[in-house]
Amino acid sequence: MPRRAAAYLRVSSEKQADEDRFGYHRQITSVREYAARTGLDLVAEYRDAITGKSVTRKYLDLLMSEATAFDVVVISSVDRLARDVTSSYQVLANLLASHLQVHSADHGLIDLDQESSLIQFNLQALFAHLERQKIVTRTRAAVNAIAAAGQIPDGMRTFGYRTVKREALVVPEEALVVRDVFERSARGETLVAIARALTEAGVPRRTGASTPWRFTDVRQMIRRTTYKGEYRWGQHVLSVPAIVTPGLWAKAQPRGRGRPWHTSPLQLLGHVRCGVCGARLSSKPHHVRSKEGRRYWSYRCSGRNNDPSSSCGFGAISGPHLDALAERAVRDALADPKRVREMLAVAAEVDDRNASALAALESEDARWLEAFRAGAITAAELSEYRADVRRRSRALADTRATADRDVQEYVRAARKLPLREVLDLAGVEIVVLGRYSLEVRLNVWRA
Ligand SMILES: [Zn+2]
Repeated sequence: MPRRAAAYLRVSSEKQADEDRFGYHRQITSVREYAARTGLDLVAEYRDAITGKSVTRKYLDLLMSEATAFDVVVISSVDRLARDVTSSYQVLANLLASHLQVHSADHGLIDLDQESSLIQFNLQALFAHLERQKIVTRTRAAVNAIAAAGQIPDGMRTFGYRTVKREALVVPEEALVVRDVFERSARGETLVAIARALTEAGVPRRTGASTPWRFTDVRQMIRRTTYKGEYRWGQHVLSVPAIVTPGLWAKAQPRGRGRPWHTSPLQLLGHVRCGVCGARLSSKPHHVRSKEGRRYWSYRCSGRNNDPSSSCGFGAISGPHLDALAERAVRDALADPKRVREMLAVAAEVDDRNASALAALESEDARWLEAFRAGAITAAELSEYRADVRRRSRALADTRATADRDVQEYVRAARKLPLREVLDLAGVEIVVLGRYSLEVRLNVWRA
């Protein structure tokens, strides 16, 4: 019986996946040739794509967790194991510890117990490492020179722009979205409301992407100076066509001037309601001043302002007192990730849906394995179907991770930011029930 082998491939980025000498095609071809030559039965293929500096080895991990299904791992060359010598050695050691033989298509069996093989492995890993460093240094210098000349180096991936021959061009349909976001924010819509509107309108976050907009995406967009014509690239500020005017840009900033509550020192305006009639609370300065000459401010129900004859009976509450009370309540509510999770309806839904979907995928996987054992499908089909199951499981895990990230970010923000910003960010609503009693509502996911 021929020995079962898994191919492990590593491409440097999605863009490179089909091209150049490190490309996918080149690697798989050499691995297949090697397998055919040495009588190995290639039953599975694991492929990692590495972008920039990030080191993700999802498929390598997967390969190791499924190591019992193979005897041999084939790589096209040693430099495909990792980016540098130390990690290459580590990866190799891990593979060997999983009782797998490792072959490289260009040099055959890698056996660390044999001195010649060990030396060769180290040398190859070292050469690969040096080669890559040279490329990195050269690329960095070239790109810096481009930026210093005021041109856009490759890789500007800002929504609203594309680069052609190192010049930034506006993408009209994306620019419309950008302008809409800035205008909404300038009007006082919360980040969350804007993200929701974009998702509901089906606006893609990036070309081809369908993931929903998160409030952090919107915040990132609003803070990006590129949209007023200043693209920051490392130390350089490169000028690009503006999509919004500097005035609109400033007005749209989360703490920008021009908000009606700016004149009042009270923190909760715009986020606080009367517990009796549901109207918004407004602020009012008093004629009497404190000993230090400061004016007193209080909250009052705006229902009464609008129609003096129909008072709801809500008296004035001292501004600083209510601010302090609310600050404690809001921070308490947001300091507890568990409580936040409970309040975030979407996170809970995602959990429920994911749990049953994951269970379904697990039993699907088991069925394929059974079918294979019964001889109904081939090994190649089995690995294809299982790969598909794994892909879908990962997509589910990603949804969950996104929801988790939102919650974490939300809680982290709540710790650091001033109250005013937390209220905006989280879409918090405070309902005042009495002088010492209020209710904090987190509206982040709700319409
Ligand atoms: Zn009222």
